[in-house]
Amino acid sequence: MSDANVAEYSILDRVFNIPLNGTVNSLRMGSYKTSHHGNEAEHALIYSGVIHAPEFPILLRINSACYTSDIFHSQSCDCNWQLKQAMDRISIEGGLLIYHFHHEGKALGFTHKLRMMQLLEEGSSGWETWLRQHYDTDTRRFYSTIKILQDLGIQKVRLMTNNPRKREALVRNGIDVVETIPIVTQAPELRFYLTSKRHILGHEIQFDHEI
Ligand SMILES: [Zn+2]
Repeated sequence: MSDANVAEYSILDRVFNIPLNGTVNSLRMGSYKTSHHGNEAEHALIYSGVIHAPEFPILLRINSACYTSDIFHSQSCDCNWQLKQAMDRISIEGGLLIYHFHHEGKALGFTHKLRMMQLLEEGSSGWETWLRQHYDTDTRRFYSTIKILQDLGIQKVRLMTNNPRKREALVRNGIDVVETIPIVTQAPELRFYLTSKRHILGHEIQFDHEI
């Protein structure tokens, strides 16, 4: 059982098993190209071990692109930290990371992203207002994620996320989330950013000093 929307996505192409040279424990790369009513999108797969085993709960990270941190190493958010954490864990335990290029700037693009970062720089009220608006209008749909998981025959996952919406999207589409694994940086300089996400977006974030 899955959202009718998932059926509107088609897979145009896929590539697997390209070595990500230089990584510990030989991570592999793959790619999916999808189409939704003529809008094409590409998605990277970073993985280790077997990812086609329906009976085995696979370690999974659904990763939205963040060009500012992933390409330019901005420290304004935790995205690149999360990406590295997930890749390290997958290289050790086996698992799969799906990187959605088209999710940059909450799927609204790089220019929109910089406008949002300007609000963050200016202080709390503009940034938090933006987050509140974004909560209801999040354009990052996870239909392509579901389509890829279905194509791979993945039925059970151990999901690395702080975002309950990602878990709900999987469960709604028949993916059994047997475990949710938090992925929270304790960097003090990101405390305000993460606290906003917790209060406004409902992300499941716990800091060490609260335990
Ligand atoms: Zn980011």
